[in-house]
This record gives sequence, C-alpha cells and structure tokens, in this order.
Amino acid sequence: MSELMEEIKALVTGHIKGSPHLSGAKYYNEPVERMPRAKIEELQWKLLKLQIKRAYELTPFYHKRLKEVGIKPEDIKNLKDFQKIPPVLKDDIREQMKKTGDPFGGCLAVPFLPSKILNVYSSTGTTGLRTFNVHTEWDRNWCLEEICRLGVMEMQDAPPGSVFIDFGFHWHGGITGVEMGVSRLGLIVAPMEALGPGFELERCLQALQFLKPISIHWPLVTLWIFGDWLQSINKDPKEAMKHVKLLSTSGDVLTAAAAEFVKEYWGFERVHSGFQMADTWITGCNCSKQPPNITHICDDFHYVEAVDPETGEQVAPGERGILVITPLVMEAMPHLRWNNEDYVSLIQDECDCGRTHTRLHWYGREAFAVDVRGRKVFPSEVETELFEYPEIGVNAIASQFVKTAEGSQDKLIIRVTYFPDKTKDPQKLKEGAEKKIKQKLGLDVEIEFMSQEEMKAALTAPHKTSRLVKRY
Ligand SMILES: [Zn+2]
Repeated sequence: MSELMEEIKALVTGHIKGSPHLSGAKYYNEPVERMPRAKIEELQWKLLKLQIKRAYELTPFYHKRLKEVGIKPEDIKNLKDFQKIPPVLKDDIREQMKKTGDPFGGCLAVPFLPSKILNVYSSTGTTGLRTFNVHTEWDRNWCLEEICRLGVMEMQDAPPGSVFIDFGFHWHGGITGVEMGVSRLGLIVAPMEALGPGFELERCLQALQFLKPISIHWPLVTLWIFGDWLQSINKDPKEAMKHVKLLSTSGDVLTAAAAEFVKEYWGFERVHSGFQMADTWITGCNCSKQPPNITHICDDFHYVEAVDPETGEQVAPGERGILVITPLVMEAMPHLRWNNEDYVSLIQDECDCGRTHTRLHWYGREAFAVDVRGRKVFPSEVETELFEYPEIGVNAIASQFVKTAEGSQDKLIIRVTYFPDKTKDPQKLKEGAEKKIKQKLGLDVEIEFMSQEEMKAALTAPHKTSRLVKRY
C-alpha cells in the first residue's frame, strides 16, 4: 500500500518548501497559496480518492465504517458520493479505544515502530477522553509547511532574529510544531510554560523583561489570569508588555471586539488568532485583512466541509454547519470526514490578501451552544454586545450560557460579571443588555449576573473557559 502514499506525495511536489522564509516576503509559498480555485479542487479530489483507499485498506476502523454503510472506495465517484460516509465523531474513536485498548482506536495506518513514528501526541480532551495521534517524518514536514504559511500572516513584520515567546501548553502536540515553524520563519523561539491559576506568573514576567520579545503566543484565558495578577501587584500591563508588538492567541473564538480590547489593554500593535487541531493536524490563522474569527487554512492538505448535523450533507455555500475535516496527505492516520464539533461557514472567494484557499468563519464549539426556539446560539454571537458596556467589558470573554433543557429552550440565559466600581445601577445595565441582545437575535434574553469569584471558579480548564452551565 505504500505506493498509494507515494502517489499522494508526488501530487503535492512543490507544496512543501522546507526552506527558511525570506524575511519580509508576504507569502511563504506563493504559487501554492494563490493557486486558482479550480486547480485546488482538482487536486483535492485526486488526493481524496487516494486517502479513501488508504483508510479502507490500512485501518480497521475505516474499513469497518465503510462496510457498515455498504460503500467500497471504488463506489465513491464524486464528492456527492463522498458525503455518504457518515462524519466520524471523536466518541466513535473513544468507543473503539475503550473496547480494544488501542490508543489510536483502529485508525493507525503505519506500523507502530520507531523507524516510522516520530512522536505520539494527544488532543486536549476538551469534550472527554483524550485521543492520541502520531506523526511520521512526512507528517511533520507537511505540518511544518502549513504552520509556516500561516505563521507568515502574523510574523511577516517581525525582524529576523527577534524573540518569540510561546506561553502555550507544551503537552499539546501542536505547540512543538508551531515553535519549529516560527523558528523556520527566522525568529528565535523561547518556549515558556503558562498553565492555569497558580502557575509561576513571576517567571513569565521575568521572561518578558529580560528576553524582550517582539511577538508572543498566549492563550487568552491564561493571559487574562496574568493580567489579574499584574493588577494585584500594581503593575501596569502595558509596561509589562512594552517590547511586545504582536500577540497570537488561541483556544477560543476571538471576536473583533475582544481583539480590540486586548490590543488596547496591553498596548499591542496586532492581535491574531490561530488554532491547531491535534487529530486532523489542521492549522489556521487570520491574515491582516480578516478579523480573528475568520481564519485561513490550507486546502491542499485538508478538505473541509460545513455540514448539516442531522443529515451529514454539505450546507449551501456561506451557510453555517458543523466543520468536517478530511486530512488529504496525512500518512499516519488517514481520517475520513472528521466531525470537529464546531460551527463554521466556509468562505471560498479570493481574500483581499491574495490567498485563494478556504477561510473558516468560526461561530463556536457545538458543546457551548444552546438551542433557543430551534436556533443554535453561540457565546461569540453576544460577546460584542456585552463588550460594548464598559461595566462588563473584558468580562464578556468569560460569559456563559445556561442550558435549561435537553433540546430546545424558550429563552437565552446569559451569565456574566460586571465591574462593581464601574457600575452605578446593575438593574439598568441588565435591562439595557437584555434589550440590545434581544434586538440582535430576535429571541427572549435574560441576563444573570455572577460575582468575580464565581467567574474565576468557572475558569476550570487551563486553556479554555467553561462557557456552558447545565440547569435541568
Ligand atoms: Zn487573507
């Protein structure tokens, strides 16, 4: 079966540059990043056919899955046929893991041998049992290419040799790749750890003072914890970040309003939002022409769909649906139609930055949405409105929805904190915000205020805020 992999590699010759970035250039791999749309789609279909075959022939999980729905690789003659494969939920893999004890749930397509496997990684486990995945040398190389293409969107102004501090989570497989990629772009990378509450904030401050980084990566929630700590020791956030011009953040959907706030609060010149998913190894980032909740991806390495959660079929272009990802060149674990459990819409016209690959417009994690009278509502949809009240401001980032029923509920209940010293009349604030959000969504809205202490307690996961409270 290795000849299938060889065919895949041959199709993407020139797509993996593997060389350092020329400082100041706008693109990392211009001919590929600006490929005509028709050429992209032609390439995707060729790669997809090969990956379907590999998954069927090499992995017990996908062999069984295709058999169950009565499809053989040769039956899939077009993209419509491809949609007959039911999207894979992480829980499907978890079930296999528990049943068989196989850490890869029957999805590994290469021998588990040191000659083949570079590293074993794990996903964050945001929604349950963590899943494991691996890289071969080939996988590492295309992942690095992807990171470099997207990293240029953030780092193109950073002078070569300047310092980048990564305050991300080093147990996440993506981080090592990001650091290798940034180093390939010509920056000096300093990996530092910044976990949840109780981590060594003093040491983060020392790193900022002595290494004078121009750019940093810091997940929003732990950055905010750092901000709280600075306040408690009467340190000015702008002074602490005085060398930093560029923040790249990750972990949650970052709205334009939140990005503006963060920029102003810390004195950054630019704020970008990036992501890397450990199971499909898809990487994304917003370019300077797009808000942080609209991110570029690489279509030559991933085929993405927005699908109806009920039917598993693609929704009309521009409509929102569940993000389903098929990695197109992955050697180790050739997943087919991975349900990412996030809501997005796809944008596929040419971006103002000149790139032609897909952009994802993010709404949020399915698990954090509530269904109000048949409409799924995401925290990111009300964040901007909440932010606009100075009494609430940054607290909007940690606002929560209350789920009161298994299915649909009658009204949207939002829990949020206000600053007592900035708030003269909490009742007036509550009524004003309820009216404003009701006007936007056309749904009944109730605001519940929580104390600062309650909000901090909700910051349970070190990298993502808990955005949903169940009450039924
Ligand atoms: Zn762009």
